[in-house]
Amino acid sequence: MNELLNPASAAASAAASAAVVAASRLPPVHAAMDQFAVHQGELVVGGMPLSRLAERVGQTPFYALDRGLLRQRAASLRALLPAGIKLHYAMKANPMPAVVGLMAGLMDGIDVASGGELKVALDAGADPAEISFAGPGKRESELRQAVAAGVLINLESVREVGLLADIAAQLGLPARVAVRVNPDFELKGSGMKMGGGPKQFGVDVEAMPDLLGRIQSAGLAFEGFHLFAGSQNLKAESICEAQQKSYALAVRLAQDCAQPVRFLNLGGGFGIPYFPGERRLDLAPIADNLADIVERARSELPQAALVIELGRYLVGEAGIYVARVVDRKISRGQVFLVTDGGLHHHLSASGNFGQVVRKNYPVTVGNKAGSGPREQASVVGPLCTPLDLLADRMDLPQADVGDLVVVFQSGAYGASASPQGFLGHPACVEVLV
Ligand SMILES: *Cc1c(COP(=O)(O)O)cnc(C)c1O
Repeated sequence: MNELLNPASAAASAAASAAVVAASRLPPVHAAMDQFAVHQGELVVGGMPLSRLAERVGQTPFYALDRGLLRQRAASLRALLPAGIKLHYAMKANPMPAVVGLMAGLMDGIDVASGGELKVALDAGADPAEISFAGPGKRESELRQAVAAGVLINLESVREVGLLADIAAQLGLPARVAVRVNPDFELKGSGMKMGGGPKQFGVDVEAMPDLLGRIQSAGLAFEGFHLFAGSQNLKAESICEAQQKSYALAVRLAQDCAQPVRFLNLGGGFGIPYFPGERRLDLAPIADNLADIVERARSELPQAALVIELGRYLVGEAGIYVARVVDRKISRGQVFLVTDGGLHHHLSASGNFGQVVRKNYPVTVGNKAGSGPREQASVVGPLCTPLDLLADRMDLPQADVGDLVVVFQSGAYGASASPQGFLGHPACVEVLV
């Protein structure tokens, strides 16, 4: 590094820039999965070598989430982001009850997306006052649950106004609502866009004056706005731009509100690196941006609690999926490690959960993660479909029957986002270590 910063001679400088050019021509590699230590060739999860953890779990395949990493991620967010920002956990990323229980203690609130998730959040001990419920097709029974529990409902349709007015009257309880706005902008560079243009989510910003009038006449307890532009974004500047636009929109909409805005959810969308060439999100500009918004809100929305909601970013990097090699086959020179796990437990690692082009998740052989021999191999599952692919011709530690294949970045959108019943193989287990 020093030579690059302070070249001793023109020759050294030329050699160094040639090296930089050569490095930039190398194929992109996965970001280092350095959140997990390796000890004597074994990946260490929650303080335990992987082979021993597999014995403790009692079966493969399984998901393991590292409690220490979850705490670390929450603490580093708190340390970086301004104190005026509340952090919510969007539990659809990982609804495992033990995880929700831990997050309920670490975060300021929980975002749920169904009556089923609401039950898990309440069981986990989350404060109902700090739970919010979003989703485009809330059933009447779910709205009743939410009013009875006293949680904040993110309204996504005119239909919900009338239903909630009736439910509130029947139960003799207030219906606490925020309006989920479908804005007139998109989150640029997002893996999955969930706002802007025609969408099933939220209510179009153009329809807002009418909706706010209806909420007022129906006597609902209006608290504020919810904006969620998209998911899996690794570009800090796009996230900052979406936050600024969301904030400005909320300030504009607040002028049409009879009651003060007491709640403003600015969304999330923070991504994690999955694929070659991707790097971890730089939080520093986002922290500065949020500090600017907090400062302006002091005068423009003085009663509003400012919230961001994160799912994947909080839990994704803390989790791994582990499957055991049951066969090693060679087909026309290509090595296939056939495991007892696959897309039925981990749809997103197979590339079939919203990805346009299939790319490999970071994968290793967790009981041979040291410096042993390596080879190119594909990791597949037991299903009778070529889609059941966990790693396509990757450079991996050389593995044999009995070894433990690990898929990193698996703490979010894993078991609950996969078709476990497909082909009737055994379910996977999830542990928090
Ligand atoms: C899915 C979802 C989230 C979480 O998204 P991540 O990409 O996991 O952070 C947050 N808010 C809403 C409304 C969602 O639908």
